[in-house]
Amino acid sequence: MKLIVVGAGISGCICARRLLDTGHEVTVVEKGRGVGGRMSTRRMNGAAIDHGAQFFTIRDNRLLGYLQEWRNGDSVVEWYDHVPNRSDLTDHSRFRGVLGMTDPAKHLLRNVKVEKNFFVEFIKWSGGSWTVKEAGTSGRSLQADHLVLTLPVPQMLNLFSRSNFEFKPEVMSNLKNIRYSRCLALYGLLDRVSSIPYPGIITHPTPQVDWLADNQVKGISQKPAFTLHASAKFSDEIWNVPDKDAVLSLVPLVERLMQAKISEWTIHRWHFAKPSVTFGESHFHSPESRLSLAGDSFGGERIENAAISGWEAAESITQVV
Ligand SMILES: Cc1cc2nc3c(=O)[nH]c(=O)nc-3n(C[C@H](O)[C@H](O)[C@H](O)COP(=O)(O)OP(=O)(O)OC[C@H]3O[C@@H](n4cnc5c(N)ncnc54)[C@H](O)[C@@H]3O)c2cc1C
Repeated sequence: MKLIVVGAGISGCICARRLLDTGHEVTVVEKGRGVGGRMSTRRMNGAAIDHGAQFFTIRDNRLLGYLQEWRNGDSVVEWYDHVPNRSDLTDHSRFRGVLGMTDPAKHLLRNVKVEKNFFVEFIKWSGGSWTVKEAGTSGRSLQADHLVLTLPVPQMLNLFSRSNFEFKPEVMSNLKNIRYSRCLALYGLLDRVSSIPYPGIITHPTPQVDWLADNQVKGISQKPAFTLHASAKFSDEIWNVPDKDAVLSLVPLVERLMQAKISEWTIHRWHFAKPSVTFGESHFHSPESRLSLAGDSFGGERIENAAISGWEAAESITQVV
């Protein structure tokens, strides 16, 4: 069967790999320049910075084979399993990409056809196949027997509306209930090695900040570089504030906690950071529409849950073949 998976986040990558491994012809379509979605690594003047997801866990046995493959392929290593003097944080393995959080996605898609810089403008079912169309009159157009969508559901609903597509009302109503929190990420370079000891993180130093990490101590950056994630509440408060004003209280906090000066910074606003209300099932599979939906809107917040969502979507598809 010929399949298109829209979205190269972890759910799309796992789904595509499962489908490829079971003998199907798969193309992944991704609007970004790279793969990984919210598992994103940026370069800044020689530094590598994970500015989205920071680490992942593997508790579900179904993902152990991939973990082994990633480790054997030098894509993933364990980052830490506990934080000194933080007995409130549970002890378990947290993994990271060797060069950054995009590594596991890149590894999964090594043998999968990927169309990057392809923003799906609309989808259409006609004549027994799905058409997936890029924006613009000369935009790319692909056909498939079955379509998998892995975008955060608010973006999926926009795609449905552009495409004049709807599921039956009860499904649409569940999809419309899905909610995401936002996260303002501040990241950049430091003028010297920070003072944060291994593993290089500080969680919830103030009510405004959820996470502060040193990418050099983490092991991915050659240069001192930090990532800060504002809390959902504070992100909402400063969402529409111009960048230079949004960072007014954050820059001194980073400099104080890391004992270093920020030499360069930038902001990324994650509109759909983590789902606060999900669909209630790991994925949605419609054999009659030849359409499946997956991602953390279904599996729940966290990389591992999104991965399992993609896995189970692939299982549902292969079972009906
Ligand atoms: C700031 C932040 C910190 C986080 N920290 C952690 C953490 O430490 N550990 C953890 O486990 N989880 C963390 N998460 C959550 C985790 O990143 C997500 O749950 C997971 O990565 C979601 O994967 P996904 O495949 O469902 O979606 P995504 O990764 O969002 O993938 C969806 C893909 O679809 C693409 N796309 C969207 N629209 C279109 C279109 N029209 N056409 C083509 N492509 C399109 C997007 O570009 C994207 O690549 C964090 C998230 C954020 C934002």
